[in-house]
Amino acid sequence: MKNNLKLHFLGGVEEVGKNCLAIEYGEEIIVVDMGLTFPNEEMPGIDVVIPDTTFLRNNKDKIKGVFITHGHEDHIGGLPFFLRDVRVPVYGTRLTLMLLENKLVERRIKANLKLVRPGSIIRLGSFSVEFIHVNHSIEGAVAMAITTPEGVLFHTGDFKIDYTPVGGEMTDLKRIAEIGKKGVLLLMAESTNIETPGYTMSEKTVGQSLDLIFRDNMKKRLIVATFASNIHRLQQIVELAEKYKRKVAFSGRSMINVAAAAMKIGVLNVKESTLVEIDGIRNIPDRELVIVSTGSQGEPMSALRRMGEGDFNKVRVGNNDTIILSATPIPGNEKMVYRVINNLYKLGADVIYSRLRDIHVSGHACQEELKIIHSLVKPKFFIPVHGEYRHLKKHKDLAMTLGMDARNILIPENGDSIEVGKAIKKVGRIQSGAILVDGLGFDEADGLLVKDRKQLAEDGILILVATINGLSGELIGDVELIPRGVSFAGQPEKLLIETRNSVTQLLRTADLKSYAARMETKNQIKRQVRNQLQRKIKQSPMIIPIIMEIVD
Ligand SMILES: [Zn+2]
Ligand SMILES: [Zn+2]
Repeated sequence: MKNNLKLHFLGGVEEVGKNCLAIEYGEEIIVVDMGLTFPNEEMPGIDVVIPDTTFLRNNKDKIKGVFITHGHEDHIGGLPFFLRDVRVPVYGTRLTLMLLENKLVERRIKANLKLVRPGSIIRLGSFSVEFIHVNHSIEGAVAMAITTPEGVLFHTGDFKIDYTPVGGEMTDLKRIAEIGKKGVLLLMAESTNIETPGYTMSEKTVGQSLDLIFRDNMKKRLIVATFASNIHRLQQIVELAEKYKRKVAFSGRSMINVAAAAMKIGVLNVKESTLVEIDGIRNIPDRELVIVSTGSQGEPMSALRRMGEGDFNKVRVGNNDTIILSATPIPGNEKMVYRVINNLYKLGADVIYSRLRDIHVSGHACQEELKIIHSLVKPKFFIPVHGEYRHLKKHKDLAMTLGMDARNILIPENGDSIEVGKAIKKVGRIQSGAILVDGLGFDEADGLLVKDRKQLAEDGILILVATINGLSGELIGDVELIPRGVSFAGQPEKLLIETRNSVTQLLRTADLKSYAARMETKNQIKRQVRNQLQRKIKQSPMIIPIIMEIVD
């Protein structure tokens, strides 16, 4: 029987986040990326969201390896949760593996990590995977050309085309053109910036803007907040510090860890005499120091946020500080970022952020760059990835303006299984979805937990305590009501008394002798009080009846 080539989308389409794609041929599967998403406001208390990997867990004996395009959280963040249970080799470039390893060590997970250099090819069963260097907002990003028995699949990963990249070479367009010339069955290309015409600015332009800020703030202490993983940004800041004779102190746990990793493998070059520990900055004059910090997204607990709240004893912000937020707020983070900016202003600091100056560029390709890739790869079929539905739709339109037939383009949904060969078509669904992870540990929060938290946040809680004689089952005294966060529509006394009376009534006539009977009574109380409050205040707080037994 002939085998078919199938793609299973476990995440990363209909969203920007938790990218994960399984490619199956016969008895073999390879996986491209396994990321995470950060929770939205619908998920109180949840720390991260990872893809449901049940499909892969059920097929774990088929998995030959996981290939990672680069070290951003939306591409590696789900892996520790998977590698805890499933032993498969993971292939990536140096910085990617280093960032992954940091996470694995934190959680004491052993994994089989295999270093791949851009330009080399890994052969695994029916597949061979070639890593191709691309520019992105992190060092070590690659696209992948995956040769299968049905043809070549080209996956861009996250990329941009930077003609003047910092500390590296530009996207390997020459190799991409060669692969395109030999014939590509399917292109999968990222869609993050599909709404933006033209080209993404070069990372070098950020350096030029920062240079002017360094020049104009000679007397002041500088604090630059950016993404720790943007090594090229760090490199530019370090070089400017050296140019203007300033020392550099890295601040924030992830900044210190990532910078150390990047220096170790030689992708971040800092003169030894330039570096100072954040604990040792007291004796350095303001004009001779740059602090490079986490917190460009205003994240809770991050160094910059704590500086703004005056809660970071290593750095006290004042009126001789100029603070540069070298990042744009990710949609959803704006409020947090502007709160930090407001706080820093209140402390007397000057703040420069991306609305004011060109101090950030995107790491993702805009329309013209995407057109270049489409034209070089010239695929038979196309699947847009790494975007919400509107991004994927727009990317389909773009491919059609370049001459592709609509029948050869497919917009996938998470959970889709797609067969590619003579044609491209959806052939089924696999289990997919979001697993909510609570806490730094591994506890996978279930839907109930999140539902409970939402209910508590929106409508509060009402605890009812009744005391009964454990032998006779008789109610002793009054039922006590403890409301927290419940809004009683301006008449708390009246409503509480009414509720108490009705519950007391119920308990007087109820059978409370056996455990089962008491459980049933509790459910009755819940129903009754819920209906009552629904009717009167249109709210449903969490209701917790407690029946205490006294035996004497
Ligand atoms: Zn990325
Ligand atoms: Zn990404």
